[in-house]
Amino acid sequence: MRLDKMLAENKLSISFEVFPPKTDTVFESVKHATEEIAKLSPSFVSVTYGAGGGTSKYTLDIAKNIKETYGVPTLAHLTCVSSSRETVKERIQQIKEAGIQNIMALRGDLTPEMENKDRSKWAYRHAIDLIREIKESKEDFCIGGACYPEIHPESKNQDEDIKYLKEKVDAGCSFLTTQMFFDNNLLYNFLYKIRQAGITIPVIPGVMPITNANQVERAIKLSGSFMPQRFKSLVDKFGHNPEAMKQAGIAYATDQIIDLFANGITNVHIYSMNKPDIAQKIQSNLSHIIK
Ligand code: FAD
Repeated sequence: MRLDKMLAENKLSISFEVFPPKTDTVFESVKHATEEIAKLSPSFVSVTYGAGGGTSKYTLDIAKNIKETYGVPTLAHLTCVSSSRETVKERIQQIKEAGIQNIMALRGDLTPEMENKDRSKWAYRHAIDLIREIKESKEDFCIGGACYPEIHPESKNQDEDIKYLKEKVDAGCSFLTTQMFFDNNLLYNFLYKIRQAGITIPVIPGVMPITNANQVERAIKLSGSFMPQRFKSLVDKFGHNPEAMKQAGIAYATDQIIDLFANGITNVHIYSMNKPDIAQKIQSNLSHIIK
């Protein structure tokens, strides 16, 4: 199913993100974890694409398996920054052949080596270039893009970030998924600003359940997200007790999701990190809400 059609139904729902294995040796265990997540029948499952394309084959294997075996719509991520046009065109074709209708079109993160290179010769410098490539393929994909309620770390300011976001959307995005955030007010503020800028497509907020104290530092480093005091207190109090931290982290994420639903959001994407037990607990916390 195309995700733009699913989103147009305006039903309260949750979706999950999984990531593919980096090597053959863990393929079966990762596949099993993603299957357990698919069995929860979320509105869709997104499958990430390894930086530099290292896991591209597995992204498709996992996405295809979830779609064909469990009938759950899938969203295949694709990055472009370090790829040639031939490679990207080939990947688009492979996604089509796998029967996947939804592509998350991303630039990908810059590695330190890339940052010092002459970017003028790159086939793709921004996600918008990939979106144009997908559109040129004339295949009927539903395309998603990433957005950043707390500004992309490379942007000078929010106005500039939103200006490029609008161009990206106009190039052919049907929906946007946000970077994780831990304070819903940041999302509401961002939504207000992008709607003012004329971006009207659905925005799917991304929520990351932080279920162990070590994740906190990594999550902040990766996303640059602001940690509200309410969340910091929870980590201070329960961080040393893994089971208590897990319970508290799931409760915090659940609370965030309920508040998002209460404020007009219809689909929330959960960065479930290949952890079926966490996905299952959040879903069960919402059982009367997302029927
Ligand atoms: P862009 O939209 O290209 O934006 C990157 C920066 O360039 C921003 O500062 C933007 O303002 C600026 N910019 C955009 N267009 C222009 C322009 N025309 N001219 C000048 N500046 C411009 N990474 C992976 O490797 N694999 C994944 O599967 C993956 N999944 C993700 C899913 C989500 C929901 C999110 C939020 C991120 C994901 N990422 C993934 C990380 C992502 O690749 C990085 O955040 C990356 O740094 C930016 O990607 P983008 O597609 O947002 O880039």
